[in-house]
Order: sequence, then C-alpha cells, then structure tokens
Amino acid sequence: MSNRLKNAIYGLAVADALGVPYEFKQRGTFKCTDMIGYGTWDQPKGTWSDDTSMTLATCKSIKDKRKIETEDMMKNFRLWYKKGNFTAHNEVFDIGGTTQYAITTGQGVNDVNANGNGSLMRILPLAFIDCTEEEIRKVSNLTHAHEWSTKACIIYVKIAKGLINGENIGIMVKSNKEEEPYHRLSYIHELQETEIKSSGFVVDTLEAALWCVATTNSYSTCVLKAVNLGNDTDTVAAVAGGLAGIIYGYENIPEKWINELANKELINECLF
Ligand SMILES: [Mg+2]
Repeated sequence: MSNRLKNAIYGLAVADALGVPYEFKQRGTFKCTDMIGYGTWDQPKGTWSDDTSMTLATCKSIKDKRKIETEDMMKNFRLWYKKGNFTAHNEVFDIGGTTQYAITTGQGVNDVNANGNGSLMRILPLAFIDCTEEEIRKVSNLTHAHEWSTKACIIYVKIAKGLINGENIGIMVKSNKEEEPYHRLSYIHELQETEIKSSGFVVDTLEAALWCVATTNSYSTCVLKAVNLGNDTDTVAAVAGGLAGIIYGYENIPEKWINELANKELINECLF
C-alpha cells in the first residue's frame, strides 16, 4: 500500500465527512469547527458521501486491474449506486444528476450544462498511477464528458502529481497558465473570499479547492476553510482535502477526526 495514497484518500474522506452536514448551506450562516453529525443529510458523525464512495470505487478498480480500465470502474460505480457498495453505512444518500444519468444509461454526458463536479471529485487516485491525459479524459467521460469537466480532472491530477513529487503548491498554482474558463487558476491565491464561489459547477469547485489549499498552512485550516465557504461544502472540502492530505500527510490530519471517520476498514481495503 502506498502511504502517499493513504495521505490523499484519508485527506479527501475526512474533509468530505466534515462537509456533509452543511451541504447547501449558505456561506456565513454557519461555522464548522469540528466533525459533527446530522444536519443536511441526517447522517451520523463521520459519514462520508458520494465523493469518497466514487473515489474508493476508482481505487478498488486500479487495485484489482493494476491499470486504468474504464469498464471495470463503471462496474464499481454501478455496484455503489445499485447495491450500496463503497459506502459508509451501506446506503447511498446523495448522487449528482449527471452521474445518476450516466450510471443508469451507460452514457457519459457531453453538454455544457452537465459540468457539475462529479468527475473531479473522484479522479484523485489517477495521480498515483502512470496515466496519460487521454486516460484521465476517458475516466472523466464515464460520467462527465464535456471538455470543462475533463480539463478540470487533468489540471487536478497534474497538480496532485506535482505535490506527490514534493513540488510547492504556490508554484504549482502559478504555473497553471490555462485558457478560459480556467484562466483565474494562476492567480487564485491572490483572490479574496468574496471572489470565490463554492458551487457544484466544476470550475467553481476547482477554483475554491485550490484557493483553500494555496492560502492555508495546515490540513485542518484548509479543510475547515473549504467547508465554511458553504454551498457544495463536502465536495469543495473533499477536492481540497485530497491535496492537503498529500501536502501535510496522514499524521497531520487531526487524530480525533480519523477516529470519528466511518468505515475505515473499507477505505483501507481499497487502497493500492
Ligand atoms: Mg457528496
């Protein structure tokens, strides 16, 4: 098992669980300072959601096949949605519209209006295996096939790979010379909170997550900042938390939050 993958996946899962109780809440109407239960989805403390489930389904496929096999990943996504595999408590309580459509029909959606963060939130395991941009695109395409979604996945995996190799997040962010709609990424760390949206739109989610990672100096401040942006709290936090996990390591995730996290047996089983 790769310890670095463990850093990333625990970083993502803990952040997801911190955000779940506050999903859809408006910025400024709440303050997340610790792991709590219930709230939006009425789930017990430590429950992680679709973001972690689909990430684990992807990990398990890479572990089993030792390469990227999109049909096998889709099989795992179906097992998640239909049977509750890869969940915290054997239950699927949230799923994005585009993901649900794609799993049900077997067709990823290539539409400018189908650019939710549903492929970005599950793509992190690809940073831990040799893969081409084309392979990253194919994995995104399983659900989200529009170029904005696939580009978000490519940018995110590239940054994660850089961090794994010990690159500095500030330098990684500044080196992102991208065209619209990702043109703000190279100076994202200079923006004020009021300029950062934290919606489920993939561009907003990637911006918000990178803003949190680039403007904080510890795992906990990063993921709490992400949750407290409001709106798509769990996914913004999960996308930020995966990178923060790589930067700061499993041992710098508060032990209390790890202890409270649901179904760690499953998480450990899926790591490769
Ligand atoms: Mg979720």
